[in-house]
Amino acid sequence: MPKIKAQEQLPKERIHNFNEVSFGYTLEEGQKEAERCLQCKRAPCRQGCPVGIDIPAFIALIKETKFLEAAWKIKETNSLPAICGRVCPQEIQCEKFCTLRHKDEPVAIGRLERLVADLEIEKGFKIPEVRKKLKTPVAVVGSGPAGLTVAGDLARRGYPVVIFEALHQAGGVLVYGIPEFRLPKKIVQAEVSYLESLGVSIELNTVIGQTLSLDDLFKEGFKSIFLGLGAGAPVFMKIEGENLNGIYSANEFLTRVNLMRAYLFPEYDTPVKRGKRVAVIGGGNVALDAARTALRLGAEKVYLVYRRTEAEMPARQEEYEHAKEEGVEMLFLTLPVKFEGKDGWVEKMVCIKMELGEPDETGRRRPVPVPGSEFSLDVDQVIIAIGTRANPLLISRVPGLRLNERGYIKVNERGRTSKKGVFAGGDIVTGSATVISAMGMGKVAAQAIHDYLS
Ligand code: FAD
Ligand code: SF4
Repeated sequence: MPKIKAQEQLPKERIHNFNEVSFGYTLEEGQKEAERCLQCKRAPCRQGCPVGIDIPAFIALIKETKFLEAAWKIKETNSLPAICGRVCPQEIQCEKFCTLRHKDEPVAIGRLERLVADLEIEKGFKIPEVRKKLKTPVAVVGSGPAGLTVAGDLARRGYPVVIFEALHQAGGVLVYGIPEFRLPKKIVQAEVSYLESLGVSIELNTVIGQTLSLDDLFKEGFKSIFLGLGAGAPVFMKIEGENLNGIYSANEFLTRVNLMRAYLFPEYDTPVKRGKRVAVIGGGNVALDAARTALRLGAEKVYLVYRRTEAEMPARQEEYEHAKEEGVEMLFLTLPVKFEGKDGWVEKMVCIKMELGEPDETGRRRPVPVPGSEFSLDVDQVIIAIGTRANPLLISRVPGLRLNERGYIKVNERGRTSKKGVFAGGDIVTGSATVISAMGMGKVAAQAIHDYLS
């Protein structure tokens, strides 16, 4: 039986709105897709899931039309299934290992997860009973997927947990980075309120390292602290003209549009430039999100400028296909070398063509400039999405906290830092990874915190 396709908004319609692109499965479609699962005894799909979901078990429940039971089964190990079902790169995780991939397309595990998680949101959450209430409070700094996972796992074990979040809304990249058309804010909000109903409290607008130090938290009585700070400081290209107006980091651009609702200006009071000819630099999910957001803000031409080729792009395949359907023009093997402007605003981007040379330290072939291949593009907005790094605000102020050679927090395999009682996980440890790997690290750290406190 072929894989069941989920319905989507048509490209020509969706580039004019911020509504979700995929409608997901109906219950009937989901049940049909679940029928494809072979219920393999050794369940290879499970090896690809960093949070250990019992995939065949939840799919078997869908087959039997026990949709809510399927959601509860997932919730045994994953507190954020409606989020994971939308943005996890299943093609390189659970679905990559599905037995069916040898003969046909793998089971659409992510879509099935989304279906039942959405149903549970609609019908109301089942709140698991906490057997024993403990008296050792834990502080979690940062409310991205890593912090939310630690908070959920510890709350379920009975710990009083407080999350401290610098921004005015909880969710980390899930709210300030990933756009509404891929992950609606109401879905993130619903899964955050599930954690609140487990007893997690959230202190918003609190920058640890500024408003309170880690020592203040210990003095307030927290017995352990988890740092899930993400890696939110943008990296720039450091080329001529980069300070011209109209040139944004993807972080700033996406935060303005997503979290601060700049696309509804002046109803929401954060403005953003709506470019007509926009160049986005980079080849990952962040670059694609920025390009597709620029289209939805009314750009007539959006270029995605990437120095390697399509084969090396780190972005999710589905998002890349969606971006192409929407009309984003891909300029591969291209590197911007200079920006030119008039009256302080960007007008031109000078680029050079690249070719692939010998493999670099990552094993990918290194792009090298082709002499004499410079050309320029007329642009009125540029968005730079070439990566991020750790924000030093907190970590530079914690004596004794060891960092690795790339400036991220050094931890052991259980998320333990060099500072007693302090654990860390997610992008602040890895640099930048995925939602589910941040959650996987959160799960490991939650267990380690529990062992430390027991
Ligand atoms: P974050 O999500 O970054 O959360 C960290 C939180 O800590 C933030 O809310 C921040 O405000 C807060 N914080 C930081 N410092 C302090 C402080 N001193 N005091 C208090 N709070 C603080 N991954 C996927 O799997 N699939 C995708 O499709 C995908 N798309 C992406 C699109 C974009 C635009 C971006 C930027 C990333 C994307 N990723 C995707 C990557 C993924 O979102 C991250 O790997 C993941 O969010 C990391 O989780 P985290 O909890 O470590 O950090
Ligand atoms: Fe089902 Fe694929 Fe997992 Fe087998 S590997 S149990 S077919 S999802």
